[in-house]
Amino acid sequence: MIKKPFVTKEQIEEITKNYPTPFHIYDEKGIRENARRLKQAFSWNPGFREYFAVKATPNPFILKILQEEGCGVDCSSLTELMMSDACGFSGSDIMFSSNVTPAEDFQLAKKLGAYINLDDFTHIDFLEKVAGLPETICCRYNPGGKFQIANKIMDNPGDAKYGFTKEQIIEGYGILMKKGVKHFGLHAFLASNTTSNAYYPELARILFELAVELKEKTGADIRFINLSGGVGIAYRPEEEGSDILAIGEGVRKAYEEVLVPAGMGDVAIFTELGRFMLAPYGMLITKAVHEKHTYKEYIGVDACAANLMRPAMYGAYHHITVLGKENSPCDHKYDVTGGLCENNDKFAIDRMLPKIDMGDYLAIHDAGAHGFAMGYNYNGKLRSAELLLKEDGSVQMIRRAETPADYFATFDFTGLFDKK
Ligand SMILES: *Cc1c(COP(=O)(O)O)cnc(C)c1O
Repeated sequence: MIKKPFVTKEQIEEITKNYPTPFHIYDEKGIRENARRLKQAFSWNPGFREYFAVKATPNPFILKILQEEGCGVDCSSLTELMMSDACGFSGSDIMFSSNVTPAEDFQLAKKLGAYINLDDFTHIDFLEKVAGLPETICCRYNPGGKFQIANKIMDNPGDAKYGFTKEQIIEGYGILMKKGVKHFGLHAFLASNTTSNAYYPELARILFELAVELKEKTGADIRFINLSGGVGIAYRPEEEGSDILAIGEGVRKAYEEVLVPAGMGDVAIFTELGRFMLAPYGMLITKAVHEKHTYKEYIGVDACAANLMRPAMYGAYHHITVLGKENSPCDHKYDVTGGLCENNDKFAIDRMLPKIDMGDYLAIHDAGAHGFAMGYNYNGKLRSAELLLKEDGSVQMIRRAETPADYFATFDFTGLFDKK
């Protein structure tokens, strides 16, 4: 698959007249079309709903677009709940899937009427004490051990901090019912960024079988099964991305084989996708500002790991297009670096790219999820703006860039910056 940026060099030259690089830019059309494909893939399930994982791209303008496409939100913290509330999400529009949860977070989730997804057995008492138990509650399951698909280890739930064990979830449902909880959800997240179309169907089968067992053992009224996030995307051009229609079909099969015969054919399927919803529809645009020829060839750009942490943190691959040179041969080998005093601040290592000239714009692909959101201020670097390429081709700033005043704002109590 050829990775084609959703903006041209000419568009970026126009945009940079108003908004200097670096910035993140999102593609409204791509976001909407993808959200509609997801909905179509699960249209066999009348109760289906995607709860967008806010942590992936916490921007109210993005949340509004997804809201218009019928999505709810999946929150994991107080500020994500506040942002969702401000965007008009309420009650069953909100899933609250947190862990190591502070009391005030549970209190706000309860006040907003969100679905609360408990991460742990001990959270039953904690939630009851700090906020009271709602009528509907979801529990997060961790099957332990290794999670395999077709003999390939996908991830290691036994090492993951999340969720109840099976014994705990059975006991937990019973306790919750005694305490007056009327309806239940079931959730698990077993592998991240999976590009196997078998992931969701396998996970679904595990949860469906557990749901049947829970119903038999406790009599609980299970209303929804939340497949969480984890559906991946093709970061590399040679990778195959997820086929969401095939994934939806695989989940339907498991549903009909496990839930329907158990008389549970009315259970709603929920998802909490982040990466799949946004990653391909956001890019980090940066400008080549320095070149360096030492033991290697370096291109220094005006963005750094503080704008997109994944390459530095996980060694993640992000495809790079040199705008205007889409058809030039990739006959130069570069390390593309940011300016942090950290040698892992490299967007690409030994990457074959067209010859880069100073002033060239580089589009770093698939930065729309877990991109800006993981930004930080190390080395006093400031967060960039976020822009939205709208369906009509116009560009809207949906978050301004930080200024030094933002960086210093938390020092204001000292009066240090009042003196001249
Ligand atoms: C991070 C997260 C998601 C979203 O994960 P993606 O890999 O972006 O799809 C969903 N649910 C929970 C509980 C998460 O922590």
